[in-house]
Amino acid sequence: MIGTQENPLRVAVIGSGPAGFYAAGQLLGKKAQHVARVDVFDRLPTPWGLVRAGVAPDHPNIKAVSRVYEKTAGHESFRFFGGVELGRDLDVEDLRRHYHALIYAVGAQSDRRMGIPGEDLAGSWAATDFVAWYNAHPDYRDLEFDLACERAVVVGNGNVALDVARMLALTHDELRVTDVADHALETLRASRIREIVVLGRRGPLQAAFTNPELRELGEMIEADVSVEVCEADLDPLSAALLEESDITARKNVEILTDYAKRPPTGHPTCIVLRFLASPVEIVGDERVEAIVVERNELVRDDESGALRARPIGERETISCGLVLRSIGYRGVALPGVPFDERRAVIPNDGGRVLEDGEPRRGEYVTGWIKRGPSGVIGTNKKDSGETVALLLTDLEAGCLLDPPDPDPDAIEDLLRDRGAEVVTQEGWEAIDEHERGRGEPSGRPRAKLPSFDELMEQARGADRAGAR
Ligand code: NAP
Repeated sequence: MIGTQENPLRVAVIGSGPAGFYAAGQLLGKKAQHVARVDVFDRLPTPWGLVRAGVAPDHPNIKAVSRVYEKTAGHESFRFFGGVELGRDLDVEDLRRHYHALIYAVGAQSDRRMGIPGEDLAGSWAATDFVAWYNAHPDYRDLEFDLACERAVVVGNGNVALDVARMLALTHDELRVTDVADHALETLRASRIREIVVLGRRGPLQAAFTNPELRELGEMIEADVSVEVCEADLDPLSAALLEESDITARKNVEILTDYAKRPPTGHPTCIVLRFLASPVEIVGDERVEAIVVERNELVRDDESGALRARPIGERETISCGLVLRSIGYRGVALPGVPFDERRAVIPNDGGRVLEDGEPRRGEYVTGWIKRGPSGVIGTNKKDSGETVALLLTDLEAGCLLDPPDPDPDAIEDLLRDRGAEVVTQEGWEAIDEHERGRGEPSGRPRAKLPSFDELMEQARGADRAGAR
């Protein structure tokens, strides 16, 4: 029987962000009815996914969720395999030889495209690049953001748009006590950006902001927030829907109406929230000089019944030197794993991976690569709960994989033979301790190591010591 002391359930989780950690935690938790061993793989030498590389540095309370993941990682049957990439160091067939079940939890690693002329001009960036850069993701450390212009435009009305707008407006004193990447701290200090325009293609009622994040914009030390009264006013269709809208959307409208009444206080920076405006072109000779937007009205979509934006034929050119496109993340296919190109997710039924409409034995999915890039960190707990419950149902039904070599040492031997340099849990803890120590003298929670080489160097020290 699988799931006993003699024959533990062996699960490989691919991706160590919130969804992967919640899945691991649920398999190893006190309430589990079976004995499991969970190996969590990540391409990076560091765990926690967007909790480390996505959450804004000035949101330490959100990052504190990592304590839950640390607890899971402290379980005797948990192992971390950092620096191991599916498709480079291992393939799905390798995993099927060593595990009873695989859970893909790789998130959404790319960004959606707007599909307008000028999108690739220098100075036009995916907001996700900016986020990864200021959070010291090692793949993004060499990006060079030119912040010498006076105005930046952020496209999109989600929380990522608010994060990047806020990051451009925080003072050096506010930023220097966070875990922002050292390179970003210096670049942001020299920023000359004084106005950040955030563009929503629909109206205030349709904004995807959450209330605390929107409220925070109104509490910035050296930045005003402004909304044109006429843009805060709801169009007739939205006004009719207000009462039946969810509480978050209604509160957003309240907050935005309040912002529209605020007189400017003369702060050096201003965040301007605009609505019913869609970018149609980014213009400039060699780099971004302006963005052309088209005014919209809202109309009811015949199919979905939702209100969608329709251009009314009026255009406006907003001069700017930086455009951050914040219109959502996008999932990326994993080698050897089914992928739905249209939705950019792994096709699944509640978390069971589907191939041609049929479940792939022993393969599961959770998080953004399962449902698309929506929801807050906690959403992944419920999502992983659903996936793990199906996995355990399949365990009971005898429908998992039957790996020929389930010995826990075998995967380590395989990776060693392939020349992969694995960062173990001890290796990550050495990085963690080092970064916290580096940050301490300047009152920062940590000062992140920004390159693969430096991260690997720290991890190596610990792993060498462990091997002695
Ligand atoms: P999001 O919430 O899905 O917002 C995407 C925004 O882009 C929407 O306003 C959408 O407008 C707009 N958009 C899409 N296509 C567009 C186009 N072609 N032109 C103009 N606008 C377009 O995505 P996100 O901001 O990337 O956030 C992802 C998830 O992470 C969200 O669930 C978010 O709440 C979460 N998150 C949470 C926090 C936090 O809790 N502090 C921080 C960051 C992210 P339409 O509505 O019209 O499609």
